[in-house]
Amino acid sequence: MRLSVILATWLSSRGARTHTLGPVEQAVAARANHLSAATTYLKPLLSQNASVILPLDHDWDALQIRGTSPRVHPKFNAIVEAATEDDVQKTVQYASKFGIPFLAVSGTHGWTKTLNNLPYGIQINMRKINSVVVDPSGDTATIGGGALQWEANRALYAKNKQTVTALCECVSIVGPMLAGGHSMLQARHGYILDNLVSARVVLANGSAVTASSSSNPDLFWGLRGAGHSFGIVTSLQLKAYDIPSNWTVYTFIYNSDKLEAVLDVVNEVDGNAMRPANLVLSGVGTRIPPMDLHNPLIVYTVSYQGPEAEAAPYFARFKAIGPITIKPATNVNNVELYKINQNSLDSAACTRNKNSMGSGVSLPIWNTTAARAAFDIFTKMTSDPRFSQSVFLLENYGMQGVRAVNASSTSLSLEERQYPVVANPTIWWNGSAAIGQADAEAYGEQIRQALFSGLPKGANKHTYVNYAVGTENFNQMYGYDTTRLQRLKTLKKVYDPSNRFGFYNPVPLV
Ligand SMILES: Cc1cc2nc3c(=O)[nH]c(=O)nc-3n(C[C@H](O)[C@H](O)[C@H](O)COP(=O)(O)OP(=O)(O)OC[C@H]3O[C@@H](n4cnc5c(N)ncnc54)[C@H](O)[C@@H]3O)c2cc1C
Repeated sequence: MRLSVILATWLSSRGARTHTLGPVEQAVAARANHLSAATTYLKPLLSQNASVILPLDHDWDALQIRGTSPRVHPKFNAIVEAATEDDVQKTVQYASKFGIPFLAVSGTHGWTKTLNNLPYGIQINMRKINSVVVDPSGDTATIGGGALQWEANRALYAKNKQTVTALCECVSIVGPMLAGGHSMLQARHGYILDNLVSARVVLANGSAVTASSSSNPDLFWGLRGAGHSFGIVTSLQLKAYDIPSNWTVYTFIYNSDKLEAVLDVVNEVDGNAMRPANLVLSGVGTRIPPMDLHNPLIVYTVSYQGPEAEAAPYFARFKAIGPITIKPATNVNNVELYKINQNSLDSAACTRNKNSMGSGVSLPIWNTTAARAAFDIFTKMTSDPRFSQSVFLLENYGMQGVRAVNASSTSLSLEERQYPVVANPTIWWNGSAAIGQADAEAYGEQIRQALFSGLPKGANKHTYVNYAVGTENFNQMYGYDTTRLQRLKTLKKVYDPSNRFGFYNPVPLV
């Protein structure tokens, strides 16, 4: 009983998270005895490799750093580095018993500001649960709930296998999967969630269950589209495929006045029913001052898993637009691909501890008038030195595999299943000044509204859950199909009636 009072006192305080000892940290330090009393309770319940880390411990600061800190800063008071599923269960049971909020952390690249609603609580750090094993059949891989893409990709590559992962090496497998998982392999195999065979999930009550088409099928349905709202995935089994070939990647750089021409070609190639499923179209608007001092350029990448000759007609289409430079890369393997596409661990995309914000928009087609209006705002924004490193993602990864999946088999919104275009201004800026964030949000929203203004009549406004800023409403992220939304809410009441998983663009209880 005395312990629970100590815990309540400690945990209702706001946690320390910065490098220098401010008043909050000093208050925490003053309660050092209480902190050790608190850990005394949980620590013996955990496995040998698990750790409990508190604000004065050596690793504390490093484990507060996120892809997007300080903008995104869930307020943790304690960190449990779980090493087993049982550790996750014990921590959730302990937290639930004392009414302590908690949040699972894997890649740290979650960037919705709803994460800031965690008022205090426990970071359940999943990184120690990171094994990757190709199963004996060779048709699936079993992956730890805290594994990052580079770990999964490289382990599979060593066995000449690939699975559907997202694009940046630093992001986890589970984070994207729970709401989709856009991927260079999606045109062939669907999103990451379409490749989920089964998952082990720790629920709000601390029990651990299997979710698959035959075990807890309702949870399996909810997990694949709105999974952040339902539990902590400790391991997952994904379909694995033989690597069919290396990649050919052409990178074209255009002046910004070619935006319409580029997007016209993208619409035409992407909209063609004969589009090869191993063709990936992606680009960014970005400033490269040595090449153009005044305007962003368009860096457009055409990737093809196959030999150069097969993809030549597609490269020719983009060459004909008149790029300033063309950079071909041939015979690129699945590990090198991340480097070539600038998504490797050391890429700008994987930078940590620097504000960044997405403001995602999914679209049924590029409307070039609206895209130009959006790009003009992006140009203005990046002329401000605070935001000059920002990029404007122009993504069309291909939809055949995504659309081939029966839409009712997962909770993913119908828009996410159908819309081929993802436009996402990714805004980076330094510092913690509120004005920087307010300006970034205002620019992000202006760009978003400009893009939405080009929606065909009757098309719904949609934002991919994983590219949401955190200001979007339920429909914009989870869709407009009332039956599906009602089913999600009903499931939420069954699996998480106290809304313990309520910090990541959550499914509302009512
Ligand atoms: C640089 C960058 C690149 C991106 N690239 C892509 C991309 O190519 N494709 C794509 O689809 N999306 C992409 N995204 C979006 C990405 O899907 C989300 O940001 C995702 O939430 C990141 O997951 P994480 O584990 O890295 O981050 P975290 O912040 O660790 O996790 C995000 C949230 O996921 C939940 N979570 C984490 N681990 C678990 C677990 N084991 N079980 C249950 N819930 C868990 C928690 O709610 C957590 O708050 C990208 C984002 C960034 C910032």
